[in-house]
Amino acid sequence: MAEQCSFCGNRNLTPRTTQYIHQHHGEMLFVEQVPCLECDYCGEQYFEIAVLKQIEADHRDIAEHRKQPSRVVQVAVQEFQAPAG
Ligand SMILES: [Zn+2]
Repeated sequence: MAEQCSFCGNRNLTPRTTQYIHQHHGEMLFVEQVPCLECDYCGEQYFEIAVLKQIEADHRDIAEHRKQPSRVVQVAVQEFQAPAG
């Protein structure tokens, strides 16, 4: 796990939980309450390899219908349009 932020060099990283969006073959899995270390200065988040591996495994199981997700949500998608004028 990171001892200091590799983005900004700050040494104050605080344990938090966050939402992680995992993408695999165009499918997305939102994982909530994921433990991470967050940089107090720039907000960059660092995850344990074991945590990422678990998310990958869960996503594979859900995609292959071996596991039910906690819930399913609909997501609105919009292409960015520059404001007129
Ligand atoms: Zn940082």
